Amino acid sequence: MHHADYRGIEAGETQLHHIAQEHQHTIHVALVGNPNCGKTSIFNIAAHAHERVGNYSGVTVDEKVGTFEHGGYTFRLVDLPGTYSLSAYSPEELYVRRHIIEQNPDIILNVVDSSNLERNLYLTTQLIDMDITMVMALNMYDELQRSGDRLDTTQLGTLLGMPVVPTTGRTGEGIDRLFDKIIEVFEGRDTQTRHIHVNHGEELERCIKQLRTELYQHGFSDSLSTRFLSIKLLENDRQLEQYAAEHDPDGSVMAMRNRIADTYRKQSGRRLVESGEGDQRHIKAEAENQDIESAITDAKYAFVRGALAECYEKNEHSTLHALTDKIDAVATHRWLGYPVFLIIMFITFFCTFAVGQYPMDWLEALFDWLGGLVGSAMGEGPLRSLLVDGVIAGVGSVLVFLPNILILYLFISFMEDSGYMARAAFIMDKLMHRMGLHGKSFIPMIMGFGCNVPAIMATRTIEDRKSRLLTMLVIPMMSCSARIPVYVILVSAFFSKWAAFVLTGLYLLGMVMAVLMAKLFSRFFVKGESLPFVMELPPYRMPTAKAVLRHTWEKGKEYLKKMGTIILGASIIVWALSYYPTGDNRREQAENSYMARIGKTIEPIMRPCGFDWRQSVSLLAGVGAKEVVASTMAVVYATSDDEAELLEADFESEENESRIVELIRGNMTPLSAASMLLFILLYMPCVSTVVAIKNESGKWKWALFTVAYTIGLAWVVSTLVFQIGSLLI
Ligand code: GDP
Ligand code: MG
Repeated sequence: MHHADYRGIEAGETQLHHIAQEHQHTIHVALVGNPNCGKTSIFNIAAHAHERVGNYSGVTVDEKVGTFEHGGYTFRLVDLPGTYSLSAYSPEELYVRRHIIEQNPDIILNVVDSSNLERNLYLTTQLIDMDITMVMALNMYDELQRSGDRLDTTQLGTLLGMPVVPTTGRTGEGIDRLFDKIIEVFEGRDTQTRHIHVNHGEELERCIKQLRTELYQHGFSDSLSTRFLSIKLLENDRQLEQYAAEHDPDGSVMAMRNRIADTYRKQSGRRLVESGEGDQRHIKAEAENQDIESAITDAKYAFVRGALAECYEKNEHSTLHALTDKIDAVATHRWLGYPVFLIIMFITFFCTFAVGQYPMDWLEALFDWLGGLVGSAMGEGPLRSLLVDGVIAGVGSVLVFLPNILILYLFISFMEDSGYMARAAFIMDKLMHRMGLHGKSFIPMIMGFGCNVPAIMATRTIEDRKSRLLTMLVIPMMSCSARIPVYVILVSAFFSKWAAFVLTGLYLLGMVMAVLMAKLFSRFFVKGESLPFVMELPPYRMPTAKAVLRHTWEKGKEYLKKMGTIILGASIIVWALSYYPTGDNRREQAENSYMARIGKTIEPIMRPCGFDWRQSVSLLAGVGAKEVVASTMAVVYATSDDEAELLEADFESEENESRIVELIRGNMTPLSAASMLLFILLYMPCVSTVVAIKNESGKWKWALFTVAYTIGLAWVVSTLVFQIGSLLI
């Protein structure tokens, strides 16, 4: 707008023209694809090399935006979170879908891992349903070439109605051509671009058409493709059901949907899902009386296989496959697979806890030093107490676990990126399936031993929504590291001779409970069949250090962000409740603070478990963060001022620990301590975990359900142990 034209209307016109032109010169591109297909690599090469990269964080998921120039255009490139599907089951899926519908990018860049075509193209079929303009980046093309597999990309593009450009995200090869292609498509010059329909087979297509006609009659326009809407409604997509209900108040669209689905279910009868073939190992669930939702999934896979049959030929003799096969001969061997898996797990945990101990000790020392420094620099009063006892002690107690967590994530990221994780899931699948879970449930559950919050976020890798939800619900049974300090105190007070035995028993009990609960929930609460699913094992590949570190940091960052804010808040609340109205007088605090009063109020409910008000209030404080149970006990069991001061200084160090252990030994019975150990293992997950469950399941319902069942379970188990124990002793 700088070259001015000064005359009235013409000026306006010039401006408009200019704006239009400027707009035309910006192409909005969104990257969509499965996790780990190379989206971010392509994004970085495209955007980094040229211009700035912004980082805007969404509600639970991140999108990255970068702008750069290419071929006379300004590109606005958005890196979206990875998804396997576009249903409304997970936050990432909803996020990607919402981005496509609301932001309406000019071009969707569908990034596809060419070593895992079947799984990747499934998402493509859903994007095709949405009727949007697409270009496909056939990434990991270097691997395809090395393997000697043959893929006719032109043919594939023709079948899918979009240009297909081979790329190698690792080196940047093909990326310039990719963006040239995007310009061609944007300018309408590409000959392969056309709108196709994924054929779901006669029967399903009839259902779709029927519903679509109904939608037309009720004035649903094409702002959201009616075909997409029909398919999604047949898939029981909650969000779009709501959308349909809003635009069709008399409910005839939904009534029609229900009729179609019922008829379909009745007619479908029993179908067998085809079983494995060659070296693509497929795990299949059998579906009886198949519902229309899984029929659509099957039809999409059938479409993909049909397309691949026409343009793809696997090289059965390639050395790349041979290497993968050689490793797999051991790693997925019928019984050798298990010891290999156990050894890898052992190494992971050894490094997480044994090696992680060193940086953890340093951080602990750092926070102690910081607390001491602030403590001595400031005069007594609420501000000092807030900083030292609230902020530094509270946040510090969480931050010290960061090294362990990062090490654990480093291993997990490496396993994911190298392809081993898919094997671990494969090996564990049979076992996990018996509990109503999924092979991929295993890793999030293991992560739960570190911290439940990232473990719950890690359930994102489970595509099957029922298994995903079940996994989330039982993760709190996995004893997270925050529970260790209080275990240590109680065990050394009463069971020091059998310490290892008791601790191992607690962990095992947690796992057994997780299994029992999973079975119970899949029976009664979590509805829906597990969809028949396909698990294709990707080839092994050496991940780049950069990508592994990036993935580690992405997981760690979420942990820090969520834990940091909530822990900070919880610590301040717990601090305030135990500081007021009594102030710095420790003895008064222990007896008359709000915290103590609350403890005395809930004591009657907790008495059957064998807890007095001090135990009750410590447990209550643990709701903010489980670490807080130990530090609260340190405060409430202190009977005199100086004892409290000593404990406050560092209740975990040798001599002080024996002091708090002594105090507890004098105030608790072994039976009530045992009951408390069980209660701590099982009861309500900390606030951060509850929030994580809400975010990942999309509903408060499930978060509150978890709170209710864990508290109920803990109460029942502790009461049983205490009451039966009291009778026996
Ligand atoms: P995203 O999850 O889709 O963002 O995937 P990333 O960009 O993080 O890449 C996942 C892994 O694949 C990393 O280890 C990358 O280094 C690797 N990678 C990405 N593109 C290619 C490629 O074209 N060839 C090979 N061999 N590896 C790639
Ligand atoms: Mg990425």
